Amino acid sequence: MIPLFKVALAPDAADRVREVIGTAVLGHGPRVEEFEDALRARVGTPHLATVNNGTSGLHLALRLATSPPGSNPPGDGDRGEVLTTALTFEATNWAILANGFRVRWVDVDPGTLNMDLDDLAKKISPATRAIMVVHWAGHPVDVERLARVLDDAEAAHGFRPPVIEDCAQAWGTTLRGTPLGNHGNYCVFSFHATKHLACGAGGMLVTPDEESLRRALRLRFFGIDRRADRVNGDYDVPEWGYNFYLGEIAAAIGLANLETVADRVALHRRNAAHFDEHLAGVPGLEPTARPEGEESSFWLYPVKVERRADFIRKLADAGIQASAVVRRNDTHTCLPPDAAEALPNLDAVHDRVVHVPVGWWLSEEDRAHVVATIRSGW
Ligand SMILES: *Cc1c(COP(=O)(O)O)cnc(C)c1O
Repeated sequence: MIPLFKVALAPDAADRVREVIGTAVLGHGPRVEEFEDALRARVGTPHLATVNNGTSGLHLALRLATSPPGSNPPGDGDRGEVLTTALTFEATNWAILANGFRVRWVDVDPGTLNMDLDDLAKKISPATRAIMVVHWAGHPVDVERLARVLDDAEAAHGFRPPVIEDCAQAWGTTLRGTPLGNHGNYCVFSFHATKHLACGAGGMLVTPDEESLRRALRLRFFGIDRRADRVNGDYDVPEWGYNFYLGEIAAAIGLANLETVADRVALHRRNAAHFDEHLAGVPGLEPTARPEGEESSFWLYPVKVERRADFIRKLADAGIQASAVVRRNDTHTCLPPDAAEALPNLDAVHDRVVHVPVGWWLSEEDRAHVVATIRSGW
């Protein structure tokens, strides 16, 4: 079977892990610091903290973005709403619920499958506490255009909701040449085993400024300043925090994989370009949009197909794993009924979206086999 996901491990990852085990430092230590320095250099921002997984990063980002320092939320009453997309992995939206907010669904752009910024503009209101966007499959949301939407919202409502970018699938993605993580928002990346840059489990949070980074570093460790004098018990926690810090073994794997991740992303892109060329015009298959300047890392290769179940079965019979990967989040029974929202664009694409293998592990023969199988119809 040609898999949809595969765990990338650099050749020296095992040696680096053995070295960590030899030091017997497994919590926060020098490798985490080294990993963060390397990530800062790579992403191009000093305001970055690793966390133990991407979902934790989303929890932390929402907390930082919506609660002033020292406010110790959630407190009582209605906390307001976070505008978000239903076409994502559940981690995105359950982080919103865990922070005590209501979700308010924004429709998708049927071309990119990302949030529709026109629908977003209509839904920003005084109840909006934050905006969560997801760079689905690695395709960037136009966060520059989003900033202009917020300029208008600020003029209309007198406040500017903070933006959290779920970049879990988007390591290596650029918008008009600028890597994600550099657009002034909170950005969360995942280093889950199957993501472009794997730690096993891990993630990172990029913050817009130094002050929020300082706060993130405390909140990821129970609200305690690591430099505090815990020996003499002489410290205070002004603001409670979480157990969200990354460990040394994960950092060692991340450091090894960081050296090779750009090559892997290049292979994802090369395979995607091949599919773009050779799947064009296949009856019953619609590619996603490729707007100028939006350079996806192609963690996944989404297409919209007629008769999706038949398509998935045909590929499975040919030894190719294809998958919807997620279902729309807005219809899960754990959500309050009053969260329902008409999402006509999502209705129109939801049952057609499917992802085909595109990763670094595809050989030229694999790629040709995927193309030939799809071209032969389903
Ligand atoms: C993988 C993923 C996450 C969660 O990341 P973890 O590191 O597994 O917690 C969040 N959002 C999206 C869109 C993801 O794909």
